[in-house]
Amino acid sequence: ANTTKSDSIPEWKRAVQPKDQSYGKKVNMTIKEQREFLPVFAFRNLLIESVRQHQILIVVGETGSGKTTQTTQYLAEAGFANNGIIGCTQPRRVAAMSVAKRVAEEVGCVLGQEVGYSIRFEDCTSPATKIKYMTDGMLQREILQDPELVRYSVIMLDEAHERTIATDVLFALLKKALKKRSDLKVIVTSATLNAEKFSSYFNDAPIFTIPGRTYPVEILYSREPESDYLDAALVTVMQIHLTEPAGDILLFLTGQEEIDTSCEILYERMKALGSNVPELIILPVYSALPTEMQSRIFEPALSRKIVIATNIAETSITIDNIYYVIDPGFVKQKAYDPKLGMDSLIVTPISQAQANQRAGRAGRTGPGKCFRLYTEIAYQSEMLPSTIPDIQRQNISNTILMLKAMGINDLLRFDFMDPPPINATLTALEELYTLGALDNEGLLTSLGRKMTYFPMVPPLAKVLLASVKLGCSDEMISIVAMLNLASVFYRPKEKQTQADQKKAKFHDEHGDHLTLLNVYNSWKRSGYSTTWCFENFIQARSMRQAKNVREQLISIMERCHHPVVSCGRETEKVRRALCAGFFRNTARRDAGAGAGCYKTIIESTAVYLHPSSALFGKSAEWVVYHEVVLTTREYMHWSTSIEPKWLVEEVPTFFKITGMDGTMSKRQRQERIQPLYNKFAGEDDWRLSAQRRAG
Ligand code: ADP
Ligand code: MG
Repeated sequence: ANTTKSDSIPEWKRAVQPKDQSYGKKVNMTIKEQREFLPVFAFRNLLIESVRQHQILIVVGETGSGKTTQTTQYLAEAGFANNGIIGCTQPRRVAAMSVAKRVAEEVGCVLGQEVGYSIRFEDCTSPATKIKYMTDGMLQREILQDPELVRYSVIMLDEAHERTIATDVLFALLKKALKKRSDLKVIVTSATLNAEKFSSYFNDAPIFTIPGRTYPVEILYSREPESDYLDAALVTVMQIHLTEPAGDILLFLTGQEEIDTSCEILYERMKALGSNVPELIILPVYSALPTEMQSRIFEPALSRKIVIATNIAETSITIDNIYYVIDPGFVKQKAYDPKLGMDSLIVTPISQAQANQRAGRAGRTGPGKCFRLYTEIAYQSEMLPSTIPDIQRQNISNTILMLKAMGINDLLRFDFMDPPPINATLTALEELYTLGALDNEGLLTSLGRKMTYFPMVPPLAKVLLASVKLGCSDEMISIVAMLNLASVFYRPKEKQTQADQKKAKFHDEHGDHLTLLNVYNSWKRSGYSTTWCFENFIQARSMRQAKNVREQLISIMERCHHPVVSCGRETEKVRRALCAGFFRNTARRDAGAGAGCYKTIIESTAVYLHPSSALFGKSAEWVVYHEVVLTTREYMHWSTSIEPKWLVEEVPTFFKITGMDGTMSKRQRQERIQPLYNKFAGEDDWRLSAQRRAG
């Protein structure tokens, strides 16, 4: 990496030698001392008093100042939990779990008792729970059932600067709830600058600032653009480790695969250097990492640590003792891809605000350094000042479905902090209409209502409901649970052939969904055995997770009185049911273009069978797929062969308006979908729409 580097060791660095710097300084502090050491502690009483006086409070403070872990405890100590739960939302599952675990330790209770957490498919709370951390998605689901959130006394919308769709929707819904509940308190916290914007949105709510304890961070840019940021990053890691004074390193990468590969490469490079160089502890951090592994990043270590993390370490998780940050300038984001007609994950440049947030991570324990693997010119001219909120970038059909279920039909006048683009709203309405969740009037159908009980994207919910009708819900529940997993098959580098052979045994001739079912059923027959997983190159932890999700789905089915029935050998029903929800994700073989080449039915975009698919090398004419994963090509992920007539039979609404080729003309769209958008302007009362419906 051609980073500019100062030759002389600055004064402060000379003073900061490993011993003084005392790796894991907090080790000798009691929990009480650790709590009192946090910047927010000095403001404890003022903070409590401000919450008493104001219904809404915006809290701004550097990451690591104690907002997330302390505010809830202060309020509980001050009696706010006496007649309601103190809820705190997090954009990420991992953050909700890890923070809850920490706070339970600080409080001195068992996790799930006074302090608990709730994330999708995992509720770790009890009637005793006073402080509840949860994903913003979970609170969004709760507010759907209970618009005034009567069980809560305080809601803290944490990490609001992340602007996830769920947090954005909660902004508006909480603003509404506050009008009806004068006793409800809302705290909105942000690590960065948008505080003014939050304040003016929430009727000029006061801004409470916690001054951070930060040190200067020296920023070093690359002289020229890096052609391979990953390689540049790893070179920089070694350079720091071998030439810079003590202090841990934080490297931001975009995803699990990249992180695992980097850890391996670093490990090999360190091994090659032998015992002449000081030890380097390599720690990966990403959402799918097992919790035990994640806790390791907080443990004090005797040698230098390199933490390689996704942007989860930007603000959600604070790791102490970081002196060096390496920022390649990229993040993996979900964004709507008009070419595919759905969201896909893409690696994009971060914003200036994110770059500054990342750099800030180096200045928490002492003055630090941030190595930006891009040029200063790129920072100035190519990066956006701040990140675009998710709601303006992603598919919002789930959000619209939820608002409709709450009787909010006037989407034009819904109080979004930043409204979604009209086109995105139209696309969402169209998707919901064709799924059968909305009727001709744009009102929620009973099918749409049933869909809202499942915590998942509308097409998946529809597939489950279709499977009930078709008599294959038992199978579909297993498949949906398996689709939810980050990884199923274990494929170590040195044993790829062996792993592939084992996997091939599960392959179903009709494709990957049924292959997943075969895996689940075989595991079940083995008595849910871990040894079985090991022998078959299957991720045991993932399977246990699938079993848990399956159980949760069954209990939702039971609550909704949907029978759980098996189709036995008639697995054709499963493939039919998939069509009912994923008809947009269908493609036809493009024989002229080569083996494994397909064209999507809707946009006629080229997509490809993944070499690992059970259909690879076969010649399925029509396929339905779960999603497209963009790597070297647009690969269909989890594909299954179908009959085109099933599409017409299972989704008449769609083909009625689009014609057999599945395309909708601009005019058809204007006539059918546009009216659904502005039809309810001015009617934001659910009763009105209910009356309309009743005729
Ligand atoms: P903020 O929300 O202002 O960013 P937090 O309340 O998350 O700050 O963090 C306060 C302190 O608690 C940090 O120094 C952090 O290192 C520590 N901390 C947070 N989670 C854990 C954990 N799971 N284990 C150990 N320490 C933690
Ligand atoms: Mg926090």
